[in-house]
Amino acid sequence: MDFELNEEQKMFQDMARKFAEQEILPTLKENVRHDKFDPGIIKKLASQGLLAPHLPQEYGGLGLDYLTSAIIWEQLCRASLAVIQAATSGPIQPGTNLLDAGSEEQKRKYLPPVCSGDSILVGAVVEPNAGSDSSRIETTAVLKGDRWVINGNKIFITNGEIGDVILVIAQTDKAQGMKGLATFIVEKGTPGFSSVPLKGKLGWRGGSEGNLRFSDVEVPLENKVGETGRALRNALQGIDTARLFLAVGCIGIAQSCLDSCVKYAKERVQFGKPIGGHQLVQGVIADMAMKIEAARWLTYRVADMKSRGIRHIKEMSCAKYFSTEMALWVTSQAVKIHGAFGTVDDYPVGHHYQDAVVATILGGTAQMHQLTIGQQLLGMAAFS
Ligand SMILES: Cc1cc2nc3c(=O)[nH]c(=O)nc-3n(C[C@H](O)[C@H](O)[C@H](O)COP(=O)(O)OP(=O)(O)OC[C@H]3O[C@@H](n4cnc5c(N)ncnc54)[C@H](O)[C@@H]3O)c2cc1C
Repeated sequence: MDFELNEEQKMFQDMARKFAEQEILPTLKENVRHDKFDPGIIKKLASQGLLAPHLPQEYGGLGLDYLTSAIIWEQLCRASLAVIQAATSGPIQPGTNLLDAGSEEQKRKYLPPVCSGDSILVGAVVEPNAGSDSSRIETTAVLKGDRWVINGNKIFITNGEIGDVILVIAQTDKAQGMKGLATFIVEKGTPGFSSVPLKGKLGWRGGSEGNLRFSDVEVPLENKVGETGRALRNALQGIDTARLFLAVGCIGIAQSCLDSCVKYAKERVQFGKPIGGHQLVQGVIADMAMKIEAARWLTYRVADMKSRGIRHIKEMSCAKYFSTEMALWVTSQAVKIHGAFGTVDDYPVGHHYQDAVVATILGGTAQMHQLTIGQQLLGMAAFS
């Protein structure tokens, strides 16, 4: 067991941190105020090789292991979890799904432009009546001659409005339940496909989500990804990577808040001394550091397990659940330590706090992860 980062990991850590400081932070305040995502960031990440660190080199990624990728994501997210999630979501969730379940032809056609930032890939699972319970998906795909005809709606989809290629899960035979679900590739511009942006969000401002509509959208047979009946299982490969991203991203935002608190607590004077000299403030800062460190090693360990191909269902749920709840606590404490200044965007803590709330929902809610951990320990599913 070696807790030291190697030279390559340190190099990527440094590179990602500089990228966040130089390419995200300067425009973040304005973009967050207007809830605007700048897609140009995707190309910039690609130009430095930071867009798809975990995808194989043959498809345009860097071919790094998941621990090194997680170290990169943590540093990028120090600036903004919402922005980096939108920028990297294509390679992370649907990209991993396609890598795992796609045909060689599909991978060669769709993954390289995603890794170069020329095409935005989107993963569309969730619907108005199918959130945590994906088995309730109502979007249909009906085979008519040599085409699949897709009808339905998807909501809260990352990059839904700006995506170029959509991996959509649809029901091919309701009587089959989950065994009837299949994944299809739909390209933007296909007749019958439309999207609208999602506005008025509590947090995740500066990110990018949209709602999708499929109205008699026809795709050729070769656009089906993997076997019918394995769609949710295949999607979970991408969702597992997204969970790692969210866990480590939450460590990034929590660390950013801690760093800001340490600086602020040394500078802000009340009752004749820096607020950091008051024991109650020190206690909170100590608890922040302790929880961040615990989340980091929990998450780094599961990243290492994932790289080694070791089964990690329970461990990934522990990491995603613990890190997101940790970030929610750390970021809310950070706002309080900054007093009224914490409520305005001259400091990073308010933005991180809003994103931490949202991070507890996507990639599986806290309750879903509790139930997954429970199922793994008890051998009983409480949510079926
Ligand atoms: C910023 C953002 C980006 C997203 N991006 C994507 C995307 O790219 N693609 C995509 O497909 N989806 C995406 N989503 C949707 C996301 O995956 C869902 O929001 C999530 O799966 C939860 O579903 P839901 O919101 O419908 O909540 P619900 O499933 O309706 O849950 C509501 C509440 O009930 C609880 N609950 C539900 N069932 C149980 C149970 N059995 N036991 C105990 N508690 C339960 C939940 O924990 C939660 O607290 C995104 C969401 C957000 C916020």
